Amino acid sequence: MCCTAPPVSEGFATAGQGVPTIGRRWRQRLWAWRSGRAWISGSAPLHALLGLTLLLGGCRRDAPPPELTLVQAEADALLRANRLRTTPIRFTLEVGETAGYWAQQLGLCPRGTQGEEPELSCAAWAHGAPGDVASPLQRQLQRLAYLYGHASARTYPQGLVSFDRSLFLVQGHDRAALRCVVAHELVHFLRRHAYLSSRRLQQPDLRDRPAPERDRVLATLSQQQELAADRGALLMTAISGQDPASCVRQLQEAAELEGDYAAEDPLSSHPGHGRRIAAARAYLARGLADDLAAWRRQGARSAAVTPRWRWDPQDRLLTVTTRP
Ligand SMILES: [Zn+2]
Repeated sequence: MCCTAPPVSEGFATAGQGVPTIGRRWRQRLWAWRSGRAWISGSAPLHALLGLTLLLGGCRRDAPPPELTLVQAEADALLRANRLRTTPIRFTLEVGETAGYWAQQLGLCPRGTQGEEPELSCAAWAHGAPGDVASPLQRQLQRLAYLYGHASARTYPQGLVSFDRSLFLVQGHDRAALRCVVAHELVHFLRRHAYLSSRRLQQPDLRDRPAPERDRVLATLSQQQELAADRGALLMTAISGQDPASCVRQLQEAAELEGDYAAEDPLSSHPGHGRRIAAARAYLARGLADDLAAWRRQGARSAAVTPRWRWDPQDRLLTVTTRP
């Protein structure tokens, strides 16, 4: 749960089966990032996307979906309390990471097509917009991805934070837990973790190393970022007046959902749940109080901020900025 560099894919359509999309521009950029091409070229490989036939869904809402309304409430409270001045942050919903698996089970995409032909990739279904369906089979896909999803969120280098809709099935009823998830992603965004990972990959000393070694270095960096985002989420949550222990509980619940309490997974983008929980507990016991006191001496003196929110029903992006 909660990351900066998720799997690769992009929306696509096969004959008569449009994958609804929120914001074609954003999805093109996401595909570039997820495919790793953005790391290499620094720009979206638009030529590789010309073959895509993305179809916009016909069901556009004039107001954000309820899930994003919850995100807005928690993010607004965090931004105000922490007095965060930031460039625009965009929030969106996705069908969810398991959609690719279900698309394959339902015969909605050819087998073995991931990688070479991203427009045919099953994984592309993960990034559709919830609610946009063109057939009963697609509706079933969305139900399955919702009911059996990963409850994940992620932050992209372009300033986009996306949530699998299934996250709200698991934690939408628990506003304290949801605030921690939102805070974690805000830390990723504010510290530009995804961008820094991308930069690191482009540095010659790493770029020219063998792939396994490169993967190990990037995994270590990503894990450090995750632990930093966990600590930052505890601090932001405490500053907002909520019990930071709720963030430790949220991590425990994530581990319970996965049934995984392992301490380490060296090549994963995330530390094991056990390590994350232990690190969060340690910070709660030692360190958080000092950081909170430091913020009250300095951060609390900065001027109050007023988040301004905007909902784009076409791209399905909820955007906030706190800068004039
Ligand atoms: Zn994360």
